Amino acid sequence: MTLSGLMQDRPLMISSLVEHAARFHPRTEIVSRLPEGGTHRTDWAGIRRASCQVAHALAALGVQPGERVGTLAWNSWRHLALYFGVSGSGAVLHTINPRLFPEQIAYIANHAEDKVLFFDVTFAPLVEKLAPQLGSVKTYVCMTSREHMPGIDVPDLRCWDELVGAQSGDFAWPEFDERTASSLCYTSGTTGNPKGVLYSHRSTLLHTLMELAPDTFGIGSRETLMLIVPMFHANAWGAPYAAAMVGARLVLPGPHLDGRSVYELMRDERVTFSQGVPTVWLMLFQYLDANPGIDPRALSLRRVGIGGAAVPRAMLERFERGFGVEVTQGWGMTETSPIGVISKLLARHDDLPEEELVKVKLKQGRGVWGVDLKLVDDAGQVQPWDGESRGHLRVRGPWIASGYFKEPPGGGAASATPRGGLESLGRPGAFQGEGGSPIDEEGFFSTGDVATIDADGFLQLVDRAKDVIKSGGEWISSIDVENAAMGHPGVAEAAIIGVAHPTWQERPLLIVVPREGQAVDKQSVLDFLATRIAKWWLPDDVVFVEELPHTATGKLLKTKLREQYRDHVLPTA
Ligand code: ADP
Repeated sequence: MTLSGLMQDRPLMISSLVEHAARFHPRTEIVSRLPEGGTHRTDWAGIRRASCQVAHALAALGVQPGERVGTLAWNSWRHLALYFGVSGSGAVLHTINPRLFPEQIAYIANHAEDKVLFFDVTFAPLVEKLAPQLGSVKTYVCMTSREHMPGIDVPDLRCWDELVGAQSGDFAWPEFDERTASSLCYTSGTTGNPKGVLYSHRSTLLHTLMELAPDTFGIGSRETLMLIVPMFHANAWGAPYAAAMVGARLVLPGPHLDGRSVYELMRDERVTFSQGVPTVWLMLFQYLDANPGIDPRALSLRRVGIGGAAVPRAMLERFERGFGVEVTQGWGMTETSPIGVISKLLARHDDLPEEELVKVKLKQGRGVWGVDLKLVDDAGQVQPWDGESRGHLRVRGPWIASGYFKEPPGGGAASATPRGGLESLGRPGAFQGEGGSPIDEEGFFSTGDVATIDADGFLQLVDRAKDVIKSGGEWISSIDVENAAMGHPGVAEAAIIGVAHPTWQERPLLIVVPREGQAVDKQSVLDFLATRIAKWWLPDDVVFVEELPHTATGKLLKTKLREQYRDHVLPTA
């Protein structure tokens, strides 16, 4: 028999975050660049007020606890108020990625059975087009003022200012079981249909506590945090909740994510910390390349958080040397809320020589409290943490998905259909979870990623299992080759894929977007790589393109590239 503790059993509620922020940091600013143009300023007291108004508005629309409320919106104060108002009232906030194909958006909104859809003016034409297909949506709310209301034909069209703005700015937040669903986010589903990850109040608050710690993102009340990562992508990596928990100042860029807008907003609002995927930072770099007179060291920026895709060495060095800022890399997925591991150096790394240190910094990171990590081979055998042994990565913890929304347990594997197995066994395809449950017998979720973990617990991603290139039964890590290629001064972005080869089964083809104003050709790229990667990893061919395809979350769209270059004949073939 165990003995019950005598501590108060208060549920962990998302509403408590905005209440705390409004009480202890009422005047801390929330700055938004609006889709309609112009800048909006409010503060945490204002966000609380708007969140309460949202809760009243949902009640007025008859939204019941547990029902889903969709959003198609950029990062703004209104979207922030929905984060707290929808979840706080007991409904489920369903943030939809507007960059998905319209058919995918319709599929997702229907699958989620959204009752109300909040949308930014930018998406009015899209919403009008989709409305006839959205059976469950009863009310459409445009997140704007009366003067900017679009003239579109959708059922029960409302204006934010009239519907939400007219409500009382006080609301008695209900208390309920902390395991209650709070928000819903679909994976982009580059293969198959998107799958819904359903977060809870409890998972969200535990994830937030971890995210604030000094060895993770270390966010405090003195921070001005610019959310470049969209609020429709894995809850903006939990940053809206984290900012509220400590009352940080928030800067929300709306749709203005081009290099110039990002730079100017950072400068003007004295942003100290910002988070985003590598592609947005590449856009910022391109702007700076075109404007060599600008010295980014003049920014107040001290740190950036990067995740969603590997941080190339050139990006790390540019931030460190060119901006004078610290880079914190994280690995995670929609299914992991999203933080799985975070890269922070240990004290003993202080004495490492530069080359060694860079290697550590480029690893995705170490486990944080709450996330158990496991590597297994194709047969499910646990692999050692020696920095060498590769395995399928599995994770377990209180903010890791236990299944997908409305999918039967055991249905639908983690978003990976591997193309090859681990070379250690030379047995392709035997990925546990494929077509079966994403959760193994010990409760670990199969991520679909392949990684190594070293003795210090630093995880290094080798590849998505489905992006692995198999050459003569051996693996080539596309992440390593791409990162090395992006160190070439003439390369803006690079992607590597496997192309059929008569002898080696597959050989790598490198696809490069040249950097503007720089000379680059195949031989110089190959010469550059020759000193940086294993000889047999060298691409058999290099092609140059103007642009690479990306997924709706900013990752290289390898499925499309593989399709496009399926018949590419390698000069070695
Ligand atoms: P999507 O909806 O596109 O799946 P996610 O954000 O859920 O978006 O994608 C998660 C995947 O992104 C991971 O499984 C991993 O392959 C990749 N990823 C995330 N962070 C990193 C990182 N730091 N380095 C390399 N890959 C990463």
